[in-house]
Amino acid sequence: MRYIVIGAVAGGMTAAMKIRRNDDKAEIVVYDRDTDISYSGCSLAYYISGVIKDRKSIVPRDAEYFKKFNVDVKTNHEVLKVDTKTKSVVVKDLLTGVSFEDRFDRLIIATGARAVLPPVKGVNLDGVFVLRNVKDADRIKEYIEVKKPEKALIVGGGYIGLEMAEAFSALGLKVLIVEKQDNILPNLDSDMARLVEEYLLQKGIEIKKGTSVVEIRESAGFNKEAVLSDGTKVLCDIVLISVGVKPNTEFLKDSGIQLLQNGAIKVDEYMRTNIEGIFAAGDCAAVYFKLNGRTMYVPLGSTANKMGRIAGENATGGSLKFNGILATSIFRVFDLTVAQTGYTEKMAEQDGIEYEVGHITKPHITQAFPGAEKMTIKALCELSSRKIIGAQIVGTKGVDKRIDVLATAIYSGLTADDLFQLDLAYAPPFSSAKDPIHYVGMVMS
Ligand code: FAD
Repeated sequence: MRYIVIGAVAGGMTAAMKIRRNDDKAEIVVYDRDTDISYSGCSLAYYISGVIKDRKSIVPRDAEYFKKFNVDVKTNHEVLKVDTKTKSVVVKDLLTGVSFEDRFDRLIIATGARAVLPPVKGVNLDGVFVLRNVKDADRIKEYIEVKKPEKALIVGGGYIGLEMAEAFSALGLKVLIVEKQDNILPNLDSDMARLVEEYLLQKGIEIKKGTSVVEIRESAGFNKEAVLSDGTKVLCDIVLISVGVKPNTEFLKDSGIQLLQNGAIKVDEYMRTNIEGIFAAGDCAAVYFKLNGRTMYVPLGSTANKMGRIAGENATGGSLKFNGILATSIFRVFDLTVAQTGYTEKMAEQDGIEYEVGHITKPHITQAFPGAEKMTIKALCELSSRKIIGAQIVGTKGVDKRIDVLATAIYSGLTADDLFQLDLAYAPPFSSAKDPIHYVGMVMS
């Protein structure tokens, strides 16, 4: 059996290695147009800031490494076309410029996504960046080292924009975030997003909301001037555009593989596309929201790894089902951790769900213990079933543990009353006799 995998990062390499574990005779070829493979995209902001110093630690493996598993990874090879009838792909060797055909019995598409560049004049100027892969990070690092910018403009106040606000600040730059929506972090409810915003203002980050960048141009003195839709002009000398991502699926346009309107590949719970023998995984594909079964596009590394394993398993004849996502996510900005899982109020309203909201603000460990820090949890509980359906947390310590308990509770269909009953571990350095999770159950009982 000959397997071709397109894309050699989280989704693609997980799939390739699962195929190898399941079938030691399989021929496995992985094509990637990049030179860096199997890297940690999630670490890029920390690599730029210098928290992670060694480039090799975020790109720990190369094509050579996979040879010992008899997986043939071909970097600098772009797949230009998939022919589902002849079960073949057209591949271009980017170093020689030569194109060739390769045939497959099973194909796994894991081409990920790329950063969206808005149709704004000046986005291609020197000093204007996106952050998606290791080369983007190298370019930003080099620009900062050589040009020594003093003021950064971040276009887009999502989690990547905020991680980069921390990175730029750590490197001594002043930061302005411009967010088109009325709140930064538009995927959070506005009351929780405001907590993050207040914290960022205290940290000296400037934020302009409800306006967007309409033009970036060169300026005397400072490097650049950005014109905003409200007419304001801001001066800066490095720009990061972080306004979202788009699936890399243009090369599938005429292949017959079904795509959603945003270009994401439509897959079923087994990561199968509409064409037999062709699977997709990771940021190039859509996923199901566990709580309503609806298709969503939530490009995350955590999900890409899971989808890759499922695609690899099922491409080798298995029947592993993906139970869907809760869109659980977490990130840090300075000392603040922001996490969410399941429904937000906005999403619940769109689905016509009647819900109750509970808020608590409690220390993450026993108040008297040194280092206790408060966190705010907002949880949603469905009125009819009393099930917990969503949670968002903002705090400095212990947020990761509580969001994972809440994600597990939602996954398992626990009610607000169950949260109070959970037998959670307690000693003063770790939690409080009544953990914040218990308080959530109590305020909603
Ligand atoms: P990708 O990583 O996009 O890899 C796809 C590969 O396919 C690329 O190497 C590309 O070159 C290749 N390719 C594309 N088209 C072709 C073609 N036609 N032919 C050949 N090769 C092709 N997720 C989290 O869960 N937690 C986090 O904390 C987090 N932080 C992040 C921080 C940053 C700054 C960024 C940028 C992302 C972060 N993510 C995070 C998201 C995570 O990195 C992605 O979800 C993950 O990388 C997706 O993996 P993938 O394999 O699906 O796609």
